[in-house]
Amino acid sequence: MSAAVDSFCKDKHVRIHAIETGRVRIKEAQIEGHGHGLWRQLQPILSQDWADWTPVYAWAIEHPEGVIVVDTGSSVQLKSLPRWHPYFQCAVRFDIAPEQEVGPQLRSLGIGPRDVKTVVLTHLHIDHDGGLAHFPHARIFASSDEIARTSGISGAILGYLPQRWPKRFNPEPLAWEASPYGPFVRSARLTKAGDVIAVPTPGHTPSHLSVIVCDGEDQIMLAGDASYLETTMLSGTIDGVSPDETVAQATLANIRALCAQRPTIYLPTHDPKSAERLHERRAATVRS
Ligand SMILES: [Zn+2]
Repeated sequence: MSAAVDSFCKDKHVRIHAIETGRVRIKEAQIEGHGHGLWRQLQPILSQDWADWTPVYAWAIEHPEGVIVVDTGSSVQLKSLPRWHPYFQCAVRFDIAPEQEVGPQLRSLGIGPRDVKTVVLTHLHIDHDGGLAHFPHARIFASSDEIARTSGISGAILGYLPQRWPKRFNPEPLAWEASPYGPFVRSARLTKAGDVIAVPTPGHTPSHLSVIVCDGEDQIMLAGDASYLETTMLSGTIDGVSPDETVAQATLANIRALCAQRPTIYLPTHDPKSAERLHERRAATVRS
């Protein structure tokens, strides 16, 4: 089992855990988009150039108001994916053992299912909602448009697999407030203290969101798949699956603006260096 990495915030009341729920292998052309338009979006399927195995992180924020889990990671179910779908057949492989799912790993940290009050999903791709069954007592939030996008045949074609959700799964739409956070025009507080905040980061999916933990002068950004790597965020290189290049570019620019305003430890789900950056509290360096 991969060891979970953690970091205390400065006031010692908030602690963030990086939990590696197995690994995923995708194509280089998915991590860094090649070309434009439909050509770019087909490359993750057509290319033969596989990237190295990368981690699939879920995040747990131990907070005085209750544990908040951001994304639930992968699950052993993902080792057998529907073969009718070209993306699942040609473009992705998962490697995970049962004890690597988020539930068992949280229990080994002393966090039981009833301790988790809130689960926030950056988006509903299968390696972000794979561990939902481990949270039967939590309120689960996602963007309303993201929830709508998963349904029906079009949802299946887009690569969502809602039939794998637990029967009781009934996500609540996150209520955006008209209060800006840094360069983001909307935000949503996830704690009464206002120190854990969701912001819209559309691109990878049209209603993708990210979660920011404020820690004094610093902030920790749990970025989901806003980019696959810190380096691609800094260079403004969009991925191979974002449906709208302009929207994805604008989000990466917003994240860079945020990083320029305050020291930001930027933690994408699949960046092999995310856990190390959290542990070392290493902020992204934006060149002006
Ligand atoms: Zn994704």
